[in-house]
Amino acid sequence: MDAEASPSRSVATHLRGALKACRGAWSHAARLALDVALPTLCVACREPVDGEGVCATCWAKLSFIAPPLCPRLGIPFIYDPGPGLLSTEAISDPPAYARARAAVRYDDVARTLVHALKYQDRTDLAPAMGRWMARAGRELLGEADVLIPVPLHWRRGWSRRYNQSGALARAIERQTGVKVASEALRRVRPTQQQIGLSRSQRASNVQGAFKVPAERQHRIEGRRVILVDDVLTTGATVDACARALLRARAASVDVLVFARVVDTHKATI
Ligand SMILES: [Zn+2]
Repeated sequence: MDAEASPSRSVATHLRGALKACRGAWSHAARLALDVALPTLCVACREPVDGEGVCATCWAKLSFIAPPLCPRLGIPFIYDPGPGLLSTEAISDPPAYARARAAVRYDDVARTLVHALKYQDRTDLAPAMGRWMARAGRELLGEADVLIPVPLHWRRGWSRRYNQSGALARAIERQTGVKVASEALRRVRPTQQQIGLSRSQRASNVQGAFKVPAERQHRIEGRRVILVDDVLTTGATVDACARALLRARAASVDVLVFARVVDTHKATI
């Protein structure tokens, strides 16, 4: 009996296994399809979530940047050095822009969100990301006249269909009422991806890449501008943008990003 039962049990086990794998694949496919139609899964861990992009666990893993921070670069300080004191980076290598603020540190969960928005058409993430940015940039936004998203070159814009910085800027506009002027700054030549380039290569890659068209200068002249981008690494791109805006006689240029790379070893004064 046992000798006869074992092969059939084994067939049954195989069948059950196959059925389970099939169900697994089906439910995976169904989850993916659902994810496209209704973004109900956490973008970072794929657990169900109530429409906010990330679940409570992943939200808790995001490192929100809070004071004390460098008033110029927005880099968080480990301890409070007192009012007005700048980071060593802000003193040794002052940027063209006046102030930068970021919602979160660029770590694993932040990277997943940025990549989903940028490469996976997850524009549904922009409202939550924009809300966190509006909170981080409250001081800047209170004094701003206009939001300018860092532009893509038209060739890249076509292949990606939309500009992730523009999606974030529009989310901040809805939150704060500060208007977006996306056509006021143009990327006049295509640039190499900044990924993998050194600090100085990044700077020369984007030098002269941005311009305020003469017919748009009236949108910039005398205005207090906030540049909006998804990630700030060395700041070379926003610095090149800020130079172009200042050449067009912007009254001031601040920067607001979703995430910034923070080197904790250098973040002390
Ligand atoms: Zn999650």
